[in-house]
Amino acid sequence: MRLMSDIRRLIEEKVGRPLETGVDLKNLSNFKIGGPADYYFAAATLDELRTVVSIAINARFRYYTIGGGFNLLFDDAGFRGLIIRNMCRGLDFEPDSFRLTALGGTPLSDLTSFCRDRGLGGMEFLAGIPGTVGGAVFGNAGAFGRSIGELLTETVLMNSSGVERRGVPPGDLEFGYRDSRLKRTREIVLSADFRPIPGEKSAVASCMDAYLALRAERHPARDMAYAGSYFKNPLGPDGKRTAAGKLLEQVGAKQLTVGGAAVYHGHGNFIFNRGDATAADIRQLAAILKARVKDRFGVGLEEEVIFLPAEPAGV
Ligand SMILES: Cc1cc2nc3c(=O)[nH]c(=O)nc-3n(C[C@H](O)[C@H](O)[C@H](O)COP(=O)(O)OP(=O)(O)OC[C@H]3O[C@@H](n4cnc5c(N)ncnc54)[C@H](O)[C@@H]3O)c2cc1C
Repeated sequence: MRLMSDIRRLIEEKVGRPLETGVDLKNLSNFKIGGPADYYFAAATLDELRTVVSIAINARFRYYTIGGGFNLLFDDAGFRGLIIRNMCRGLDFEPDSFRLTALGGTPLSDLTSFCRDRGLGGMEFLAGIPGTVGGAVFGNAGAFGRSIGELLTETVLMNSSGVERRGVPPGDLEFGYRDSRLKRTREIVLSADFRPIPGEKSAVASCMDAYLALRAERHPARDMAYAGSYFKNPLGPDGKRTAAGKLLEQVGAKQLTVGGAAVYHGHGNFIFNRGDATAADIRQLAAILKARVKDRFGVGLEEEVIFLPAEPAGV
């Protein structure tokens, strides 16, 4: 591994600005939890992203790429290494081929607004899901029984050796329920292509509004510090998924708190930060919930939220 001073100098030379140090991760996560990252870089362009990731890979320096931080629980001790935030945003639509390309750091809300403004259909169910296109592809984000993997036509990826692969078809990404190959390979989504369906502006807009209204009924106020569903919906013996929230509510989830962490009164699968929660509080509460569901139903819940440990053991 190269000396950190060399890596910092190299990054500054190549991208023209220094790494930030001691950045509080709580400001980069919707949970509003997390200690300082040793180093932090917000990549605004693909060139910056490629350069900084490549330098970290070549130096064998620990790094982790994030998008909007809506599905991440950072550690109370922060992160020993470099956090790279993908802020490379941009959308390009080719009317002849109907190809819509989004850079990985584009907010999903930009993508859905773009489709709404132009009457491009098929993506309506994504309206209201926070985060970036890259984060959504990573976790195959979705709602109402559909997910982003169904909409992709191809992607551009950067692998963990820094090699870029263009024209990667969705079949290669091994999409599953809230899952993709990226969870195992740590490839980075540089861009994603979609082929929307021609539609009427008003029809696309009213379909998105209907989804947004349904979301507003289920989800708490937008300023609540949480990461959406904490656990995935488990698969039953009949091959169907059961709502984790239903199981959790039957084991008294809604009454539970640990330190500053609590379960939202309106939904058993939403764990939130009441203001002063630590990552340890959130994880302890999640462990209690998991144990109760296991004891009562024999079902092993799996976290949808990703915990990023401070020390290299995990990542
Ligand atoms: C209020 C609320 C509602 C939510 N509703 C839903 C919902 O309906 N459906 C749903 O599926 N999720 C939902 N979520 C969870 C969250 O919005 C999604 O998981 C989203 O896709 C996270 O995107 P992000 O950019 O914030 O990713 P982050 O949280 O920043 O990162 C999550 C993971 O993605 C990886 N990642 C990020 N960018 C890239 C990239 N470019 N290439 C490769 N990997 C990358 C990171 O390394 C990390 O492992 C909700 C969350 C909140 C707070």
